Amino acid sequence: MSTSTVDSCAPPEDQLLSVDEARQRILDAVQVIDASEQLPIRAALNRVLAEAVVSGIDVPPFANSAMDGYALRCADCATAGSTRLMILGTCFAGAPFDGEVQAGQCVRIMTGAPMPAGADAVIMQEQVEREDDTIRFSGTPPDTGENVRHAGDDTCRGDLVLEAGTRLGAAEIGLLASVGISEIRVKRQPRVAFFSTGDELTSLGAPLAKGHIYDCNRYTLFALLTQAGLSCHDLGVVADDREAVRAAFRQAGEIADLILTSGGVSVGEADFVTETLEEMGDIMFWRMAMKPGKPLAFGRLQQAWFFGLPGNPVSVIVTFYQFVLPAIRKMAGEPARAPLLLQAQAGENLKKAPGRAEFQRGILSRDEAGQWIVTSTGAQESHLLSSMSKANCFVLLPAESTGADKGEVVSVQPFCDLI
Ligand code: AMP
Ligand code: MG
Repeated sequence: MSTSTVDSCAPPEDQLLSVDEARQRILDAVQVIDASEQLPIRAALNRVLAEAVVSGIDVPPFANSAMDGYALRCADCATAGSTRLMILGTCFAGAPFDGEVQAGQCVRIMTGAPMPAGADAVIMQEQVEREDDTIRFSGTPPDTGENVRHAGDDTCRGDLVLEAGTRLGAAEIGLLASVGISEIRVKRQPRVAFFSTGDELTSLGAPLAKGHIYDCNRYTLFALLTQAGLSCHDLGVVADDREAVRAAFRQAGEIADLILTSGGVSVGEADFVTETLEEMGDIMFWRMAMKPGKPLAFGRLQQAWFFGLPGNPVSVIVTFYQFVLPAIRKMAGEPARAPLLLQAQAGENLKKAPGRAEFQRGILSRDEAGQWIVTSTGAQESHLLSSMSKANCFVLLPAESTGADKGEVVSVQPFCDLI
């Protein structure tokens, strides 16, 4: 097993690495997983397409009506005065009309029904008066093609429907169904294993001993990974003991493409994650110019990419979103994309000391004038998980910022960008 340390990537002790630089180094290092599998589309939600999808049919396959009304020939419609047409028959969605519309005729038509031969527009039923087997209408006559949905409007046979690397959401699953595709080749998902480290951690269900806290990071990580569409192996709580940490590393290294740990990456006397990664794998250890989330161990353990996340619960979420999620997306075969940032006015003074970029927890809303306003969730220490729960966005305050006064414009990353 390799035991090399990637020294060239470690900044000097007094120098902190920026978030962007760290993210770029991570994205440069991790590779797309090669393997793929064939799945029914119902099982493919959140999966990433391994190959481009080309349509074998036109969608819609035939011209049809966009309205309930009457299919007619525009040439029959008077430009002044009223028009009277004879109703030849009716066509429903799924039950075409077989005849042809001739001069002075029309066909009663429902939304989605195929356009009858000879007709070139549909007039809405609300615009006509019906008298027995005729309709009468006046006013501006319909244009050719009005209220008609043409064959191939959505997708033409031979069109690229979805590119390789597309993550399949509800719309994409529906789109595949609309072109008649029931199975699809998707990338194999990264296999993720994670565990918490810390002698103070108690798992749920057991009473809290003196000096103990409940382990929340494993539950948070489970939720973050599930939200990202991944299934994962929870390896539990590992004690602050060199041998126990080594054993957990061995177990994780055998099953995972991606390993996440929380805690034990600082320089305390009970912090064994960093040195174990150094010993058993390849490590890049960074002290980050960010808050929360200063220490981050990144590297390789057997065939897996390894993230040693900080222990504080807010730091876990922030570093997951800023570093782990982009890595997962790359491993899963998605193209890189820039974060969605909004500009919002600070609704109150936002305090910050210069030095490290901060990901403060904010509440984004709009005022009566439609302007985005962001306020703070309050105290911002990294152990206050309630600050994450109250928030709907990160407020990104750059390293050099000394905070923002009320009314100043700041960058905001809505949480909806992070799923
Ligand atoms: P560490 O990096 O291990 O020194 O942890 C930093 C802080 O995060 C300490 O206060 C830990 O008790 C806390 N912490 C570490 N892991 C967890 C966890 N899984 N759940 C809740 N708090 C944790
Ligand atoms: Mg610890």
